[in-house]
Amino acid sequence: MSASTPVFRFAPSPNGELHLGHALSALTGFDMARRLGGRFLLRIEDIDTQRCTEANIASQMEDLAWLGITWEQPVLRQSQHFSIYRKAAERLRAMDLLYPCFATRQDIAAAKRPGTVDPDGAPIYPGLHKFMPAAEVEDRIARGEPFALRLHMDRALELVAARLEGKPLAFTAFDGAGTETAMPARPERWGDTIVMRKDTPASYHLSVVVDDARQGISHVTRGMDLFAATDLHRLLQVLVDLPAPKYHHHRLITDVEGRKLAKSARDTTLASLRQSGITPAEIRAMVGLSEAGSTHKA
Ligand code: GLU
Repeated sequence: MSASTPVFRFAPSPNGELHLGHALSALTGFDMARRLGGRFLLRIEDIDTQRCTEANIASQMEDLAWLGITWEQPVLRQSQHFSIYRKAAERLRAMDLLYPCFATRQDIAAAKRPGTVDPDGAPIYPGLHKFMPAAEVEDRIARGEPFALRLHMDRALELVAARLEGKPLAFTAFDGAGTETAMPARPERWGDTIVMRKDTPASYHLSVVVDDARQGISHVTRGMDLFAATDLHRLLQVLVDLPAPKYHHHRLITDVEGRKLAKSARDTTLASLRQSGITPAEIRAMVGLSEAGSTHKA
């Protein structure tokens, strides 16, 4: 297999059952990989060890296999690689790009400035512990107070600007027809985002960029709900010297009220649809994909 063989992945978090939205996502990547003669990997994003379960991993794999999706072995499980994400965070820390933050969600909500929300609708970090004196930081850590590590977004942007020598930060978007488009990335809209969480030993953003790189992912296919996250991913890739995959953000499947499907929406889980006698071909049709192997319009 040549170095230029495209590598795709589907990376579910096993914190619930897969639903129609996941079917669209997994099939979009799988179909594209096949069409391009590429490889297809499954990655289990189980950094949230409280909410991710073995039972969900097993049922998600069963659903994917039922859809006709095949993937390479071994399957990477993020919970087995925490030290690798920690190493990436240590690198950012050594560059003086991270600071500990002890604030709770309530502290942040109480201090938030009106009108400042990130693309996910969460308050932009209001800087509470950004300039905490080093002695107080050390004291609180010594007392065992839990903390997250946040990115100095201002410093990160400066460093990236210097590395890119004035070229704007961007990512390459691709579509099913093979068209590629340069998209501007604006990570600043996330503010001082969390890179290492309090409750889990990594953040989604850091683990995803580290794993896309070490698995040699060349093409990321995922939903539009992660469109703005790509800006952060590009920023992190430049900061820790990781290659940039190309990205395809597909449309989302919504419920009748136009909301994104939630893992808790029982009637749209693949397991319940399967039990009700629906076939994989019908699932394809339900999510707006054409038959396996033919060109689709996602
Ligand atoms: N694990 C993420 C999710 O289930 C997707 C990660 C990605 O595709 O980058 O939403």
